Amino acid sequence: MRIVKLKQKNLNPFLEVISENTELWAPVRKYTDRHVFAQVEDVSQIDVDYTRTILPPRKIFLPPSFNMFTATEKEYKENFSHATKKILFGIHPCDIHGLLIMDQFFNYVFEDPYYTQARNNTLLLGHSCWPDEHCFCKSTRTHIIEEGYDLFFHRLSEDYLVWIGSSKGDDLIRLMPDCFEEKLSDEDIQFYIRLREQRNEAFQTEVNFTAMPDLMELKYNHPLWEKIGTACLACGSCTNVCPTCNCYNVMDHPQLKERGSLIHRDWDTCTLQSYSEVAGGENFREKRSDRLKLWYTHKIQAYISKYGKPGCVGCGRCIATCPVDINVKTVSQALDGKDVDAFWNRLNKGEIK
Ligand code: SF4
Ligand code: SF4
Repeated sequence: MRIVKLKQKNLNPFLEVISENTELWAPVRKYTDRHVFAQVEDVSQIDVDYTRTILPPRKIFLPPSFNMFTATEKEYKENFSHATKKILFGIHPCDIHGLLIMDQFFNYVFEDPYYTQARNNTLLLGHSCWPDEHCFCKSTRTHIIEEGYDLFFHRLSEDYLVWIGSSKGDDLIRLMPDCFEEKLSDEDIQFYIRLREQRNEAFQTEVNFTAMPDLMELKYNHPLWEKIGTACLACGSCTNVCPTCNCYNVMDHPQLKERGSLIHRDWDTCTLQSYSEVAGGENFREKRSDRLKLWYTHKIQAYISKYGKPGCVGCGRCIATCPVDINVKTVSQALDGKDVDAFWNRLNKGEIK
């Protein structure tokens, strides 16, 4: 591990040089106050002053809908057009952790080539961030990152301290060696330490993940789930915005003229009724409460025993997105026996008509 220094004014020239022959993806502003990861043609479009993007970066590795392969009478042709060489700049620690969970998931038993090829072709250039009222990545220990990136940019007042996390990251630095200083001053180091402490103190939301696996087990049949289920709109937004959700559906699109089929892969959502429907029209998770239980089991319990960490990285997207306040924060508070100040709870108490 090596740490070098870059003047902030040299960041855009550096990004221009390294993306000369590679797609550059980065956070850009959308609407007035939202951000998305998008391919940028001009580095001036990049806005690093964001908290979270609408969709997580997994959309770059497995797009919401894409054609996996074409099958005809004569041939079978795989499609990896989404897996082009890319640089993803500006990704925050929680979202890098989200990708590390996806890496484990898509390689647990069998390797998923559609994910892996896109992942292997993408360099990750992380960027430091500051928590807002919804972020709780400190509770999931995903507010810091020690692996999984090629470069990581920690912003100070006028400079960046740049962590070099891989030999590919080192190769990027070597494209503009004069811009990077090897020697860090004591002031730089002290500034970084102070900033790190201030950031740790800036978190306003906390979730007790230590207790969650047990509470999920103990309260699996608790009436609380019916209450949450009656408020849920089954809109699927929570799963679409979550950086660790990975369910998908595979659909045949027959091409009669070519006597073949396009085989599409689309994001799927376990909170939708259609998700658990099987042949014959039976549905083994008809009730919204049962579908939410499945989602929360994955986020706060099952991944801990399988992968050694929760399936939640504390990004706060479900908090910012669910229209009726069903999210990891409110559900874990309710499991903890607290009277939760949330739309779904007020609705159940009859305080909202
Ligand atoms: S469960 Fe919510 S806070 Fe946790 S990673 Fe998913 S969207 Fe982010
Ligand atoms: S929990 Fe919220 S975001 Fe998720 S499906 Fe229900 S209403 Fe939609």
